[in-house]
Amino acid sequence: MSEFRFNKAYGQNFLKDEALLRSIVDDSGVTEEDEVLEIGTGAAALTLPLAARAKRVVTYEIDESLREILNVKLFGVENVELVFGDWLKRNEDRVRAPYKVVANLPYYVTTPILFDLIESANPPESITIMVQKEVAERLTARAGSPEYGAVTAAVRLYGEARICRIVPAEYFTPRPKVDSAVIRIDRTDTFANADARAVSRAIRAGFAMRRKTLVNNLVAAYGVGKDEAKRVLAVMGLPETARGETLTTEAYVVLAELLRK
Ligand code: SAM
Repeated sequence: MSEFRFNKAYGQNFLKDEALLRSIVDDSGVTEEDEVLEIGTGAAALTLPLAARAKRVVTYEIDESLREILNVKLFGVENVELVFGDWLKRNEDRVRAPYKVVANLPYYVTTPILFDLIESANPPESITIMVQKEVAERLTARAGSPEYGAVTAAVRLYGEARICRIVPAEYFTPRPKVDSAVIRIDRTDTFANADARAVSRAIRAGFAMRRKTLVNNLVAAYGVGKDEAKRVLAVMGLPETARGETLTTEAYVVLAELLRK
């Protein structure tokens, strides 16, 4: 990798500990029947053990300067499709359902990637990702707790999240400032009948300005009158002073439904 320089802007913190990489594949539960989507190939440290276990791996890398290294690392590995480009700006889905996501995510885009997967018309069966430890705690937080955020409520819409392992910062090159964690989110059918995009929109609105009440956030995001927003909250049995961060995912499903009417 003599020519390659790590690019901080792309969230490049690579892994190399083979035992850890195999453990992440174990955490994901991927088998030879699975198609896998990886976002952020890096130097293929995770791609290769995934390819050894899965039927097919589609992996995206934004940084063209990794092309040479990857041509060497992935030479002859026939069940890997490498795509150069920004996954968030893809024109088509190269993976077919059912598939699993397994990735050591670039941290600067963790939230947009998660929202994209949750709102997708072609959602994965499960998502096993390395994220910052603080984000992992946020993703598994309870409604109303200080860690609870829009992404927590949105992830619950998709499935159940659990922390598989904590990964200390020294496992990465270059070493990040904070520790990380592998989380696995299994899709559940709890909210299978809900319109994920509509509920996700309500969640984003509810958390848009944390110091504002839910009424004010709804007025700003949906362009409804204050009285209409208050009426919706009254139907839900919520006080006018309610704040978005106290609502569970269940409540957001109801809210999205009422706002549609
Ligand atoms: N999988 C490798 C590993 O575990 O060593 C690399 C992980 S590194 C944390 C994240 C990788 O994602 C980097 O290689 C970075 O260039 C790439 N990346 C960043 N933003 C991306 C995007 N929007 N789409 C695809 N890849 C991206």
